[in-house]
Amino acid sequence: AKAGGRNTVRFFDPDMQAAVSARSELESDLRHGLQHGEFLLHYQPVVDSAGRLLGAEALVRWQHPRRGLVPPSEFIPLAEQTGLILPLGRWVLEAACRQLVVWAQSAVTRPFFLSVNVSVRQFRQPEFAEQVLGALQASGANPERLKLELTESLMATDVEEVIQRMEQLRERGVGFSLDDFGTGYSSLSYLKRLPLEQLKIDRGFVRDVLADANDAAIVRTILALAQSLDLQVVAEGVETTGQLEFLRRLGCPAFQGYLFGRPVPATVLERAFRPAP
Ligand code: C2E
Ligand code: CA
Ligand code: CA
Ligand code: CA
Repeated sequence: AKAGGRNTVRFFDPDMQAAVSARSELESDLRHGLQHGEFLLHYQPVVDSAGRLLGAEALVRWQHPRRGLVPPSEFIPLAEQTGLILPLGRWVLEAACRQLVVWAQSAVTRPFFLSVNVSVRQFRQPEFAEQVLGALQASGANPERLKLELTESLMATDVEEVIQRMEQLRERGVGFSLDDFGTGYSSLSYLKRLPLEQLKIDRGFVRDVLADANDAAIVRTILALAQSLDLQVVAEGVETTGQLEFLRRLGCPAFQGYLFGRPVPATVLERAFRPAP
């Protein structure tokens, strides 16, 4: 089968063949996992400058029968390519809304938001708004406590349609956050027109904020921008007290990162932040 010379030999490259079959195995595992309830949510705290819990971000995990707990970086890209992100994203929304109801009735009493990541493909479904409202209604969750995290890549699609869809949900109380802010396609004029509530400063800028003057300048600019547009802002990926102090001094009001807590199951988050009796 190697008759075709150099170029065709590449086609039979065993490494490549292995990669292709690993991919299709992952795809069928994903399908199977969706049907068999192998996905779960972990929650990472978002805190204010005094370390008080403001809310949490829901992050999906896959409890694979053989491979153990698989992080989203290993399956979200494939889920997006195959369209499986649609049923998966829907499940995430429904599960997050159910958790929001549990928290509304439990120890976590102060106003609390729960953020859910929404991929571009998911948001662009014509029935997306109905899906969100349906999940809220079925669970009885308060729409005011739900935040949907979108990325700047959404701006590369039909912006008018994006704004209209966001407004439809905004009117019902659902909030929007722009995730990984600063890394992508963002025009300031769009930013002003989107019905946003929050910006999340990408972890990449926070990482070297103490050592890299450019990153510090970008963080400062994002904070000023958020203030002038009247948006909440969260710094992501805060790992050290040095980073925290620096961000605080710049006036950053909210933080997320390993310094305050890794993503954990709901009950673990509850225990960690339960008010003292
Ligand atoms: P993201 O939305 O930017 O989520 C934050 C990621 O940063 C999480 O990774 C979180 O564990 C990690 N992180 C938080 N604090 C720190 C820190 O202090 N240091 C470091 N090094 N990392 C930190 P995770 O859970 O692996 O998720 C990765 C990405 O997968 C997410 O990035 C998001 O883009 C995507 N993702 C996760 N859950 C969902 C989901 O339900 N739907 C969709 N569409 N995407 C999801
Ligand atoms: Ca996010
Ligand atoms: Ca992020
Ligand atoms: Ca990210």
